[in-house]
Parts: sequence; structure tokens; C-alpha cells
Amino acid sequence: HASAPTTADLQLVDALRRYWGYEEFRPLQLQAMQCAMEHRDSVVVLPTGGGKSLCYQVPAVCLEGLTVVVSPLISLMKDQVDALTDCGVRAACIHSMVEANEKRRIAEEIRSGELKLLYVAPERVVQPRTIDFLQSVSVSQIAVDEAHCISSWGHDFRPEYRQLRLLRNALPGVGMHAYTATATERVRTDVAEQLGLENAQIMVGDFDRPNLVYRVKRKNRATEQIRSVIERHAGAAGIVYCISRKQVEETAASLVSTGIRARPYHAGLEDHVRERHQTEFAQEEVDVIVATVAFGMGIDKSNVRYVIHSGMPKSLEQYQQESGRAGRDGLEAECLLLYSGGDAALWRRLIKQGEQSQSGAEEGRQGAFDALNAMSDFCHSAACRHRTLVGYFGQELDHDNCGACDACLNEIETVDDSLVIGQKVLSCVLRLEERYGADYTAKVLIGSNDQRIIERGHENLSTHGLLEEHSLRTVRDWTEQLVGQGFLEKTGEYNTLSVTQHGRELLRGGHTPRLLKPTEPQRSRRTRTQE
Ligand code: ADP
Ligand code: ZN
Repeated sequence: HASAPTTADLQLVDALRRYWGYEEFRPLQLQAMQCAMEHRDSVVVLPTGGGKSLCYQVPAVCLEGLTVVVSPLISLMKDQVDALTDCGVRAACIHSMVEANEKRRIAEEIRSGELKLLYVAPERVVQPRTIDFLQSVSVSQIAVDEAHCISSWGHDFRPEYRQLRLLRNALPGVGMHAYTATATERVRTDVAEQLGLENAQIMVGDFDRPNLVYRVKRKNRATEQIRSVIERHAGAAGIVYCISRKQVEETAASLVSTGIRARPYHAGLEDHVRERHQTEFAQEEVDVIVATVAFGMGIDKSNVRYVIHSGMPKSLEQYQQESGRAGRDGLEAECLLLYSGGDAALWRRLIKQGEQSQSGAEEGRQGAFDALNAMSDFCHSAACRHRTLVGYFGQELDHDNCGACDACLNEIETVDDSLVIGQKVLSCVLRLEERYGADYTAKVLIGSNDQRIIERGHENLSTHGLLEEHSLRTVRDWTEQLVGQGFLEKTGEYNTLSVTQHGRELLRGGHTPRLLKPTEPQRSRRTRTQE
């Protein structure tokens, strides 16, 4: 029932073919471009690789005047300008490394109307001189890349993005478009609000990657766990992500020592070494790249057959982005995430350190911690990975069993008496009148005589000590898993637990939860050893 293409649509298709040589639009691209052509504000949420840049680049060549692109990193700007120049589109970037002469030349090109796109960092675009200049020329649209950086609810808050409001006010009537791969409802709305968008059209793409098989495992003998995946895909391309440079070096060396063609990649390597490794990987002279997060921005290799994380990333956004580099060709690919208890603590430390080097960033701390907790829950969950991931990005799956994750493939080792344990936890939540959080509930269940418990007389509840043979940590994890599987719900400011409809069915034995085997040995309590 598609309506007839408008003149603007035809212009867009024509530009897509002429400059980029692409035949058709990817999902949502045309809708996003139509907003730009109509000067209607928009928020475009597409996963990494979804083709966000084209959403403003194609309209940029169709519209009269200059497209201003706000972008957070010099390296990203340069990549984009190079790619556009290759396509025959006039584009430039302005940053601290650009000399005065060059800036004058760029200004001339803008005045004469030849330059179509200008990339600028957020802190520069709001300087009075830049704003004066932009007011004196014809600006066709403002594109804000990585727009989630404006929200302190997001995982990557950057205070300098907050000022972009000034740009909006200085150029009223110019359409403003925000692009991001972070789609949580809260961040989405916040982006529109903070930028001062009016009546913005919000477009959210499909985040599910059905051809990826997700597995999450506790790290025990990491090198062997990694090697077994590599061996399963012998000769195919793969990426191994590590948290630190040191881990990158060690892992790469250990793989090479067993005859695997692997190369390290991180920001500490000299440029020419890094570039050589990247080229070797792109040209399939080596099979495996072992990298920190720095890797992947520039590469566009479609036949990566597996992505392994040797540690937990700091957010589901990051995980989705990195694991998403597998299987771009649409064929099946494997994603293995190895985690250990220390990973979250390490990230927590890094988040705090990062704040000290960035003024005003404390505001983003809660966002970063929330993102980390969601990532951690994902690791400790036995729920469908596809469902959890798309759920995080505000979407639903329309099937029960995805057939493509460790949970749905029944590979997760669960405890035999999951049903009974689940019922005990839920009964305790009910006994506590659904007024307490996961920590407190777990304490009651293991029979703690914590002062708060005694004060409230909760040591007399029938559910007090029902799970006394398990550690607090284990019971806490199970509680989270019951939340993840929809049997419990957290509500309100204090994350109070309550039993869902699904949970009530569990209490009647209508459903069986999947509860992970505990990581720690069970408690050898005095009472138990006396038996
Ligand atoms: P994102 O910014 O959403 O991560 P990019 O804009 O970098 O994604 O696009 C990813 C890749 O897909 C780029 O190489 C781009 O040229 C390519 N691409 C984008 N749109 C199309 C299209 N309609 N047809 C073919 N390739 C496309
Ligand atoms: Zn699944």
C-alpha cells in the first residue's frame, strides 16, 4: 500500500545511486530522510551498522545550503569526511588540528554554497564565533550524531552536549535531527527534550539480530574457552574483545603460540602497527583480531563468524554494538560472552576514574552505573538473550523460543529444584507484603538475624531461613533471575519486589523458572553440620 514517491523521494533515490552507488534504502532510512527534507525534527534510533550517517548525508546533497554535523570524536569526523570525499560529496571538518588557512578556505566554500557537510565537535559548534558564522550562511539541517551523549540517563553522558540547545535557539526553523544506537525509552525522550526538539518524529529500528547465537558463560579457563570457539570456526574471521590492553597482548600471544593466526589491536600500539593489523584482518591474512573497544569503529567486514568477549562490557549498548559486528552478512554467527565477578568491580572503578578527568560528569554516574547493572543482570540471567537484549532497547520478540541462545537451546545449567526455590522466594516476597527490595528479601530467606530483620520481627516469618543452606549472593542472584524471567517485578524508587501474574502461576506450579547453579559452595552452617 506504498504511496507514490514524491519529488523529494526521487531526488533521494537518485542521490543514493549517484554518489553512493547503493540501490535501495535500509529500513527506516527513507522515513528518516523524508523528515530531513521536510525540515521536521526527528530522533532516529538504529543499531550500529544500521546506516544512520546516510540518513543525513543523502538529504545533505539534495537540500540547498550547509548540513552541520555534530560529532564527538575527531577520528570519527575524519573517517566520515574521507568517505564522503571518496563518493564525490564536498565535506569538511573543523577541530583543533585544523590550521587557520584551512579554516578560511572552508569558510569560503561554505559561503559560496559548495560545501555540503561540515563536521564539528559539540564544544566548538556552540562558540559565539561559530554561531555568528552559521547565522550568516544558509544552514539546511543540523545532525547530532551519538545523540545519547546529551542524556545523563544514558551510558555515555558528555556534558558538552548539553550546550547544543544554544545552537537550536540560534538557528530557529532549521530542522534538527538526533541519531543514536541507544534506544531506551527514557534516553530517547530525554534527547528530544534536552535538544529542544519540537514535535519530533521518533523512529526506532529493529534491534534483533536473529542470525546471531548468543551464549554467556562464567569465565573459568578463559584461553581454552576462547580457543574452542576459534577451533569450531577454523579459518573463519573472528574478533576477541578484552577489557584491558594487557589482556589483549596476553591473549593474542597465547593464541599465536598455539598456531592461531591472531593479531592484537589497541590504542597503545603505534599507528602503523595498528593499521597493519587491521589491514591483515580485512584482507584475511589473519583470522583473529584481539582488541579493546577501540577496534571496530572503522571496519566494515561482513563475514565475521564469531565475536568473543573475554570480559563483561560496561553496558548492553556496548555489548550489542560489539557483538553486532558478527554476521553482518546475515549468515549464522556466534557470540560468546565470558564474565567473572571481578568485571563489574573493575568497570565501577573505571567509571569513577573517568569522572575525575571530565568536569561535570558526576551527573552521568548514575546512568553509567545503571547501564553496568543491566549488563551484569544479563550475565546472571537464564532468560532468553535475544528477548532481554531487544527488551532493553524497548522492543519485544514475537516468539517464545528464539532457538538461538544458550537459554532457549537449554544449555544453561540450572538447579534441579528450581521450581521449589522459586516458590520459596516468591512466598517470602508475599510474606513481606511486597514492601521490600531484593537484598532484604534474600537476607530473610537465608535466615539472617540482621538488626533490621529483628526490629521488624521478620525472624518469625515462616519463610525466614527457608533457603538457609545457600549464600546471600546465590539467593540474591536467583531473585534477580526471577525478575529477569518475569516472575517478580521491581517497582518504585526503592525497587520494591512484587509478584507478577506470571509469578502467581509459578506459585501454583504452572511454570518452572530457570535458576542458575550457584557459583559458590553452599554454606556449611553449624546447624547443618550437627545433623
Ligand atoms: P551506523 O552509523 O548506523 O553505525 P553507518 O552509517 O556507518 O552505520 O553505515 C554502516 C555501513 O552501511 C556503511 O558502510 C554504509 O555505507 C552502509 N550503508 C548504509 N546505508 C546503506 C544502504 N542503503 N545500502 C547499502 N549500504 C548502506
Ligand atoms: Zn533465546
